[in-house]
Amino acid sequence: MKIKHIPIFSLAVFESIRKTIGKLPPESGGMLCGDPKNDSITYFYFDREAECSSVGYSPDAITLNRLLKKLNDEGLRLKGFIHSHPPGFDSPSGGDKFYAGKFFAANPDLPRLVIPIVDSVATDRPFQMRVFIATRHSDEVETRRVPLRVIEMEVGIPEIAPPAATSATKEITQSPEKI
Ligand SMILES: [Zn+2]
Repeated sequence: MKIKHIPIFSLAVFESIRKTIGKLPPESGGMLCGDPKNDSITYFYFDREAECSSVGYSPDAITLNRLLKKLNDEGLRLKGFIHSHPPGFDSPSGGDKFYAGKFFAANPDLPRLVIPIVDSVATDRPFQMRVFIATRHSDEVETRRVPLRVIEMEVGIPEIAPPAATSATKEITQSPEKI
């Protein structure tokens, strides 16, 4: 079967991934967004608050959801999630597919998710980014590897930051000394 939707990363997004996830310990991650009308990925948000553990990448869902609302207003849509793996784990894990499945269930209109897996130089390997596409097949989530495509675009990453935390979430995200 021919793969029609190969994501195209802007050079700014690729470089930003290399400077963050590409240098940090495994299970660092972030969110990828782009124009819903094509396969371009023009926005990357590095998820500083993610829980990075040996179990897997757990996105900071509260911040990402608030940011996603803002991005939708700017015409951008969620395209996927990117994270790094420890050596020896080259493709999306069972946990990654489970997470993708939950996302598909919550977003019935989402046709596919881009799930790149990164090798970080923090694990004494060269930087690498393998691109996988997750799709739903009845109750299962299937992932396929596609070529990495990067193109140089005139534009950088749009400067869209997560909205300020509400008082309810501030208590969670700030240390007691700062409140
Ligand atoms: Zn993973």
